[in-house]
Amino acid sequence: MKFISTRGNGEIISSSKAIINGIADDGGLYVPMEFPKLYDTLKKKMGLSYEELAYEIIRRFFDDIGDENLKEAINNAYKDKFFVKEENNFLELYHGPTSAFKDAALLFLPQIMRCAKKKENISEDIVILTATSGDTGKAALQGFSNVDGFKIVVYYPKDGVSKIQQKQMITQEGNNVSVIGIRGNFDNAQTGVKSIFGDSELKKKLKEEGFLLSSANSINIGRLIPQIVYYFYGYFDLVNKQKIKEGDKINVVVPTGNFGNILAAYYGKKMGLPIEKLICSSNENNVLTDFLNTGVYDKRRKLILTESPSMDILISSNLERLLFEANNREALETKRLMDDLNLKGTYSISKNAKEFLSDFYGNYANADEIYEAIKDVYNNDGYLMDTHTAVGYVVLNKYRKETSDLRQALIVSTASPYKFPRSICNALGIDIIEKDDFEILNILSQNTNTDIPKNLMNLDKKEVLHKEVCNKDKMKDSLLDFLRRSKND
Ligand SMILES: *Cc1c(COP(=O)(O)O)cnc(C)c1O
Repeated sequence: MKFISTRGNGEIISSSKAIINGIADDGGLYVPMEFPKLYDTLKKKMGLSYEELAYEIIRRFFDDIGDENLKEAINNAYKDKFFVKEENNFLELYHGPTSAFKDAALLFLPQIMRCAKKKENISEDIVILTATSGDTGKAALQGFSNVDGFKIVVYYPKDGVSKIQQKQMITQEGNNVSVIGIRGNFDNAQTGVKSIFGDSELKKKLKEEGFLLSSANSINIGRLIPQIVYYFYGYFDLVNKQKIKEGDKINVVVPTGNFGNILAAYYGKKMGLPIEKLICSSNENNVLTDFLNTGVYDKRRKLILTESPSMDILISSNLERLLFEANNREALETKRLMDDLNLKGTYSISKNAKEFLSDFYGNYANADEIYEAIKDVYNNDGYLMDTHTAVGYVVLNKYRKETSDLRQALIVSTASPYKFPRSICNALGIDIIEKDDFEILNILSQNTNTDIPKNLMNLDKKEVLHKEVCNKDKMKDSLLDFLRRSKND
């Protein structure tokens, strides 16, 4: 399998190169040349474990690192660390070390990057730089911690993440990790990282010292392909439980931010998985809802901070990959749209491309609807869902009301309710006035008779290992400090 850029500089590269590069030189995103029709093969193998299924799917895309290497990478990533479970049609993707679905991709990325680095004979240490608003940082730290040949540096806004998220990060162990609080907001952290990436002087100097910069951002194809796996897994699970017959079409509901997860579902559909509608669910930052309804993408609006913070986003980067398909893989048109977005903040797609998008349905949920859904589902079914998952649940109900399409649906559950315990308690009407986040974990557990995930338990008692805080204009210095220190170790 070869990979090409969505913006058409014409280069055709191997999967190893695509994973190491992350983003193409022309600013585009890497996509596979084609999508193997795998469903008919895989349906005969129903009942494979998650790791086995992952191997069958991923090896069709990342085929230049060797089957044995890939098997080892998948086992290192997932074995005893991550599993997927379907309950009440919720596909729970948060049973990993950080209790959010980003684990699925960020456990795998370091492993496949390690293989790709070897394949490409890269001798430098790869330094992963990440700015985080909370979830990505911890998942990336967990994935890259103690992986040979890599270092990871995470910048987070010191006062811009939840207490639990902060504690998750600053207690991270590993001899190759650095976690730094920024006196500023997430945008400042992200801008700082981008400016480091854009500093060719610095990059040259680092190369001389044996370091190469890279990113664990969700536009890396190494993060996207492994997400296809859980849609096959979830579908086969519904068949095994006899909720559907093999071949029946289902709908898939995805709480969406950067458009990576729902794009993976769409790729699954292209590989033959029987999916009817892809239901794109947004919170009040409903730029994708408007886009799917009108064909006009317009980011010129204010970002609203919601209780599903991992979906508070106005530029859904992975949408570029869908636009590429919607325009018959015409790179020039994709480039035109992305240039419009950069220059004008908006773009408008052609009539044909708009018709192509009819596989998707888009809608959004507001704060009241989310609270009501969390409460209703808990009271009626005894099922506890987090605020992001609730967005999907609300939007599915809107879709069903509008269309009367009541077929079986798989709702992707992206985070444990225990990652957002304050919101969940508020939704359920549990009194938490003047309690801190760690007390609230216990209160939620006692009130709902559910277990706190192991990785969040006793978090408040863990030793703080990363105390560094820096001004937003000193991020480069702190990076150099860390690399110098780690060299002397
Ligand atoms: C990242 C994230 C999402 C959004 O996923 P995308 O692939 O960016 O669309 C949804 N829910 C949670 C909890 C997340 O962490």
